[in-house]
Amino acid sequence: MRLILLGPPGAGKGTQAQRIVEKFGIPQLSTGDMLRAAVSAGTDVGKRAKAVMDAGKLVSDDIVIAIVSERIDQPDCAKGFILDGFPRTLVQADATDAMLKAKGLDLSKVLEIKVNDEVLADRVSGRYTCANCGAGYHDTNLRPRQEGVCDRCGSTHFKRRPDDNRETVVTRLQAYYKETSPLIGYYHAKGKLASVDGMADIDRVTSDIEKILESA
Ligand code: ADP
Ligand code: AMP
Repeated sequence: MRLILLGPPGAGKGTQAQRIVEKFGIPQLSTGDMLRAAVSAGTDVGKRAKAVMDAGKLVSDDIVIAIVSERIDQPDCAKGFILDGFPRTLVQADATDAMLKAKGLDLSKVLEIKVNDEVLADRVSGRYTCANCGAGYHDTNLRPRQEGVCDRCGSTHFKRRPDDNRETVVTRLQAYYKETSPLIGYYHAKGKLASVDGMADIDRVTSDIEKILESA
């Protein structure tokens, strides 16, 4: 199963991707995570991407296309993958098409998570993750069962992203509407698009997605 998750920053793509990983056993390929790893490791790509990411703008197409192309050749992607945060421009979408075609692969579904803009700043500014296993949480919407302890791995260390602030969200949302939202029509025209209501609670969104995937 090869999936794309589409939606603005804070829509719930990462949250739902983690659940699809658990249920279907295919890896989550988040270009945001990969770029943040490159920034932490201080690689050339990381050095080029850091300021752009901090400003909430999009990293250049050639960088992210190269990262994804290399990643989907890894053995753990043989049975499928979930693209989270990629493609984000029409150039990236065309490159994804070409990449899959060259490998003789097909896209199963593009899941659009629809959310009203008003909730996004709260979702993004309240977001944090376990520093050890990456499980995602939220200050009010999704707290660990035991305060300060990760449900999944028991770690007591958490982190927040430098770009998860209300100022940067505005730029990120502009980038989404200008560069990424045209992909909704692009995939609709290809008969691949399915949309879910991302305003519903997290479990409800998961079950709506599972229903779509069961019939995919
Ligand atoms: P994205 O990957 O699309 O940027 P996330 O999955 O990281 O978004 O979600 C952003 C924040 O909102 C997280 O802290 C998450 O816990 C919370 N969240 C995700 N989905 C929902 C939902 N349906 N209702 C309320 N909060 C949510
Ligand atoms: P995300 O973790 O998906 O919110 O992405 C964080 C940041 O990484 C974005 O604001 C961009 O600067 C960069 N980024 C992630 N994915 C892409 C992509 N597909 N194309 C361009 N920039 C990206």
